Amino acid sequence: MPSALETLVKILKLEKEQGYKNAAVIGGLAAYEINWTKNAHAQARRPEHHALVDELSDLLKRYDGLEVRDERHESITYMLDRIMGRKPTPANYLEKHQGEAATAETVEARPPRRERERPPRREQPEANGEEQPQLEGEAAPVREAQAAAPPQPKRERPPKKQNQPQQQKPRREQRQGHSDDDDDGGGRESGGGGGRDDDFSRLDMDFIGGARVPAKLDIPVTPRLARPPRQPRQPVEPERAAEVMRGLSAPVERVRNVGTKLSKLFNQLGVYTINDLLFYLPRRYDDYTKMLPIRRLQPNQLVTVIGTVRHAEVRIGRTSRRDFFMVIDDGTAQLNVTFFGQHYLQRQIKPGMQIVLQGQTSLWQNRIQMSNPEWEPLDPEEIRSAAIVPVYKLTEGINGRTLRKLMGPAIDYWADNMPDYMPENVLERTDLAELGWAIKNLHFPESHDHLEHARRRYIFDQLIMMQLTILANRREWQSAPSIPLDVSEEWLSGLLGTLFPYPLTGAQQRAINDIRVDVGKSIPMNRLLQGDVGSGKTAVALTALMMAVANGKQAALMAPTSILAEQHYRNISQAVANLPEPQPRVALLTGSISTAERDAALAGIADGSISLIIGTHALIQEGVEYRDLALAIIDEQHRFGVEQRRALRGKGTNPHLLVMTATPIPRTLALTMYADLDLSVIDEMPPGRIPVKTRVIEPVHRERAYHFIEGQLEQGRQAFIVYPLVEASESIDAGAAVEAFEDLKRVFFHHKVGLLHGKMKAEDKDRIMAEFREHQFDVMVTTSVAEVGVDIPNASVILIEGANRFGLAQLHQFRGRVGRGGFESFCLLLCDTTLQDARDRLHALELTNDGFKLAEIDMQLRGAGDLINTRQSGKSMLQLVEDMRPELVELAQREARTLFEDDPTLEKDEHRLLAERIRMLQDERSDIS
Ligand code: ADP
Ligand code: MG
Repeated sequence: MPSALETLVKILKLEKEQGYKNAAVIGGLAAYEINWTKNAHAQARRPEHHALVDELSDLLKRYDGLEVRDERHESITYMLDRIMGRKPTPANYLEKHQGEAATAETVEARPPRRERERPPRREQPEANGEEQPQLEGEAAPVREAQAAAPPQPKRERPPKKQNQPQQQKPRREQRQGHSDDDDDGGGRESGGGGGRDDDFSRLDMDFIGGARVPAKLDIPVTPRLARPPRQPRQPVEPERAAEVMRGLSAPVERVRNVGTKLSKLFNQLGVYTINDLLFYLPRRYDDYTKMLPIRRLQPNQLVTVIGTVRHAEVRIGRTSRRDFFMVIDDGTAQLNVTFFGQHYLQRQIKPGMQIVLQGQTSLWQNRIQMSNPEWEPLDPEEIRSAAIVPVYKLTEGINGRTLRKLMGPAIDYWADNMPDYMPENVLERTDLAELGWAIKNLHFPESHDHLEHARRRYIFDQLIMMQLTILANRREWQSAPSIPLDVSEEWLSGLLGTLFPYPLTGAQQRAINDIRVDVGKSIPMNRLLQGDVGSGKTAVALTALMMAVANGKQAALMAPTSILAEQHYRNISQAVANLPEPQPRVALLTGSISTAERDAALAGIADGSISLIIGTHALIQEGVEYRDLALAIIDEQHRFGVEQRRALRGKGTNPHLLVMTATPIPRTLALTMYADLDLSVIDEMPPGRIPVKTRVIEPVHRERAYHFIEGQLEQGRQAFIVYPLVEASESIDAGAAVEAFEDLKRVFFHHKVGLLHGKMKAEDKDRIMAEFREHQFDVMVTTSVAEVGVDIPNASVILIEGANRFGLAQLHQFRGRVGRGGFESFCLLLCDTTLQDARDRLHALELTNDGFKLAEIDMQLRGAGDLINTRQSGKSMLQLVEDMRPELVELAQREARTLFEDDPTLEKDEHRLLAERIRMLQDERSDIS
């Protein structure tokens, strides 16, 4: 929420723009003044503040009386100068308030906030020369912070206030895209004792935090926000509030100006309800306040640029890739822009068009240029408002401008009316923004600070709700008993000796021991086994399965794809063949087995003659009846959601559950994502593994990389070539891979090249992977090696194009595709940026083979987004992980536990709305576990 001064600055600027017609606010500046003055005095905390307010209010009152345009111009300029501190306070105004300094002190003694995210802003008189306020006033000493108390009512208002025509009702200010500051003012009694933290006080607060008090009034040009504002909450009847909130589930068609046609388009964007619309967050923001003329661009800057397209063409790039090239011109200079591989843009971008670009500049043959920037046709209105403009993901038939126009009023309405479901004491403890404020600023941020606070609140909400759900699930699951399994020491060591030709690593043994302790209890096991690719999770899994079998029970292993299921089936069957008679019967259950096989398997599963069942989702489908399933394992957990886990549980008498993942996730994050699971980590590799050699390669050396691959192929090895996700769109990526595939067939014409991408049908993918494993072709071109965990022991080299676009953890996963067959193996990372940061990040892969270390680095550098396979997760998950930070994760965890301990079923009045909200969102994202 902007302070009174910020609001006034906007209005004055608007007035200037509109040619001094006294029309920037309805009723004119004089009418606006009444309410504004009240507000501003309420926020003022020093004599100089009050002096400024008095002076401005007099000027506003007189404004309409100025007949000549020049006089008005002068007045506005003067006011702005005064606010910015470019002009000194006239003596007469200062005198009036000077005696108040002593009283003011008590007002200023306010508690500093708890640890703040950002260090307090320091005064920098020299640096800020131009915008430094000139007000002279002595620094008022500040008292020690006191206990958290609402701000005290101000001293008596200046006498002139009493003389104002109070009876006149202030008219509502016309919305200027900021929140309705003056509404609050009007609602507060006599502008005196509001509980808010507005600009004046807020600014001073910063300095209190820094143990320094400015001698001057300090008003930043762009509003800065050390903490989000909060108002005391209006008591709302819980039933009523819940009802309003449920209104969010109404179809998006209910939104004004959204008809059937538009709502269909919205549906295509995944927006079905009003709630979806409110949380359809911008992909990014164009910051029109920070735009640079082309002439002033420097290399390696992230910038927003506007210009007219002067020239556009498709150019044939390397390996006959078709690039879209254009030149834009903004009157100061021209800029070359290339969109690699995106020739289809020629249909969308035409010469003469005005366009907004956002992206990274780079230097190419001594000229500044841009590659693959984000772009959008220019909306002239947006420049005029010089705002931070949301850019949404669009679909054909709806453009950015239309969407923003629709969003604006809908957001405002709901942000103002939607009750905040977060219990007040949670917000109190965490210093988070209010919901409505956050929603407004997520879409139309007033400043970067506002946006940051808004996102923080948004992400926190996701995290805490996820945590609460998980805690509730755990409670529910553990309330029903499971079958305790008896696992003796001798039996276990005997088993390990016969099952595996190698001794287990210490980490494997520890994991097995964790499991053994768990399954011995009548509380169901709920454990996550995390281990890097190739760390030997399968051996641990098989041992766990055997614990159930040895107790005369059934055990199941579920894999995300049939090819992985088959792989497990083969390995486990081989291992079981080493056991003495009677050997347990193993069955495979996937979508690709014949009906006869399936019938036989189902019969054996039902009568108990089959005790080890390996398969895919088919394991939890209807019609699969287990005789007594005591233990179940899910491989590659991130491919499955909580629903699958639940279904698997439902198949037995609350079986013990082990989930396995190769995605290295830092511990805090793992505990959040899987807070209901206990954690075992295999942090040690089987001995004798040759680490994969990793090299970052310049694009100019691509030919050499091909040459190297050729050499490996000559030796009888196989290769993967991975293409990056250029766009978050499967079809475009698939397109890029298809094009690359055509090119690579020519490059490797001595060999056979195959293609695999996400758009293919599951059976086709399986078939191609199987063919690759059987070495029916030599090079696999793919968008992202879809089949996590698949073993191609003969593959010895993986080349990753645009490696800088992937997270380290994901690259590490890719790298894990090779080096599985005892051959010396290689990972080549092609970097398509000249940015040093990106390269440095990739070099981490050259240095370490430790997935967990890489995951930590990733999380520090890029947030958690890359660590979780977002493709498989729900849409809310996708938004959530964007910039989840460990600190926020921990905060949410702590708050969730506090709430849960106090009220596990969230029944208390103050928690009911939150419970309702969680229920509301549950359907949407049942895939978050
Ligand atoms: P992942 O954790 O990726 O599932 P796997 O279980 O597939 O790893 O194991 C990778 C390879 O390592 C397999 O070929 C397996 O036989 C071998 N392996 C597992 N444990 C050991 C060990 N303790 N000593 C030697 N080789 C092992
Ligand atoms: Mg595995």
